[in-house]
Amino acid sequence: MKYQGSCHCRQVAFEVEGELTQVIACNCSICSKKGALQWGVSPAAFRLLTPAEDMATYTFGSQTIQHRFCPRCGVHAFAEGILAGRPMVMVNARCLEEVELAALPVRQFDGRSL
Ligand SMILES: [Zn+2]
Repeated sequence: MKYQGSCHCRQVAFEVEGELTQVIACNCSICSKKGALQWGVSPAAFRLLTPAEDMATYTFGSQTIQHRFCPRCGVHAFAEGILAGRPMVMVNARCLEEVELAALPVRQFDGRSL
């Protein structure tokens, strides 16, 4: 299945191919403040539909993950980087269209301890 995603104002838009069967609530310092529900996919399953220069990027700590957000509306739509040794894109499932988040199981992830 192909999912469409975007920030609030749609300056940052993307699509994701895959089966969304659960989302991850991570308790690390940034995820808890974003309030994001994450869906981890391989970079091959993710396609950015808008110019990369229209996004802003935030990094912190070990700088291994690029947190992408929209400089216009401020929504953090996804992050990308090396997670557990492999390239990953963490999509904020709250930014996907036609997804009934309340129907999906939420897995708690202890990112704070990493
Ligand atoms: Zn936006």
